[in-house]
Amino acid sequence: MSEEKIKQATDHFEKLVREQLERVERMKSEPDWTDFSTLKPIIIGACGGDGIGPKITEHAVSVLNFLLKDEINSGKVEIRMIKGLTIENRSKVMKAIPDDVLEDLKECHVILKGPTTTPWKGNKYGWPNIESANVAMRRELDLFANVRPVRVPEKNIDWMFYRENTEGAYILGSKGVDVTDDLAVDFKVITNQGSDRIIRAAFEYAKNNNINKVTVVTKANVVKKTDGKFLAIAEEVAKDYPGVEWDDWYIDIMTAKLIDPARQSSFRVMTAPNLYGDIITDEAAQIQGGLGTAGAANIGKRYSMFEAVHGSALRMVDDGRVDYADPTSIIKAASMLLNHIGFTEKANKLDKAIEICSQYEKKLVLTGRDTGATGEEYAKYMMETLRDPNLEEKWKGYQ
Ligand code: NAD
Repeated sequence: MSEEKIKQATDHFEKLVREQLERVERMKSEPDWTDFSTLKPIIIGACGGDGIGPKITEHAVSVLNFLLKDEINSGKVEIRMIKGLTIENRSKVMKAIPDDVLEDLKECHVILKGPTTTPWKGNKYGWPNIESANVAMRRELDLFANVRPVRVPEKNIDWMFYRENTEGAYILGSKGVDVTDDLAVDFKVITNQGSDRIIRAAFEYAKNNNINKVTVVTKANVVKKTDGKFLAIAEEVAKDYPGVEWDDWYIDIMTAKLIDPARQSSFRVMTAPNLYGDIITDEAAQIQGGLGTAGAANIGKRYSMFEAVHGSALRMVDDGRVDYADPTSIIKAASMLLNHIGFTEKANKLDKAIEICSQYEKKLVLTGRDTGATGEEYAKYMMETLRDPNLEEKWKGYQ
């Protein structure tokens, strides 16, 4: 009896190993990183999504149009509005991403995405329980890096997280095996290719932004094969970036050090396998005080997608408050997009304008209702701030 169960478990394991080896082969033949410096035009696709999404995305696109005016005129950049990634359309065709929309997305190089509604069972709107557009987009466009900035200026915290998003403890999360009633086994997967691409992305970011510190987070002293591989690959990748210092921390002590005032500001760029990345990015978001003004990026070698961290805020739509939705998070995502495609100075300027408007000067305040400014007024305020020739001095004055 027990022999039969062992056989079933080993057969299952064999199947998983074969699938993973096929994935490794696919990764080996994937194209190299897009080189935006030689690309003309760089096509930015903007899709509004659902709920408050189209409105706030429109404001973020205005800011991009403003900052990229010269590049758009010279043909270096094109901004393309992509329609159809709406819950109504997705429900109609019963697909997380309708085929024609996916085709349009694949013609772009980078995507600015408004929040998309993920239907849940028994929702009052009558939407079918289709897959999340985000999950589908990460898979279809192979967006393996989940990238999140966290800034707390008063604590001198300026962190950027590169979380691996396609393997680790989660990739086979629903494919573990109950060998017997008493014994359950889960699987964790780490590959050279999957580790190299995320660690390299973190080092590239550090190099391009003159940051001299990358921290690799694992538990390689205990989880020797998979985490050990991630760390060994980090050691190899680091050799290609002699100008960037790096160190490695174990996840348990890392969660402690992130809240240690004596240590926390020394971390800058962090990279970790999926599960550890999930843990430390949530911890970091809490340190920042909730979702704040963060944007999020999902990066792959060929495509990248940038989005707000919040959802489609259906309640605001039901209450007729769409015009009062805060566009800051998606504008922050637009700044990450600019950085990714090589316009680091413009991104830097936009980050400063976002901070001046939302944290220091606060000439306009958003309350999410008619007691505060509209998103459109706020986006205009941000563009006025960007236009200010004394932006840099103003920002320094607040530091
Ligand atoms: P949510 O983030 O959409 O909204 C929660 C509440 O936060 C809102 O009711 C509103 O009061 C406030 N809020 C959020 N964004 C705001 C903004 N820009 N300005 C002002 N107030 C804002 O969370 P939810 O209601 O749980 O989710 C609604 C839908 O969004 C769900 O279908 C969910 O799956 C989806 N969602 C999508 C993404 C994404 O596309 N990346 C992320 C999270 C949630």
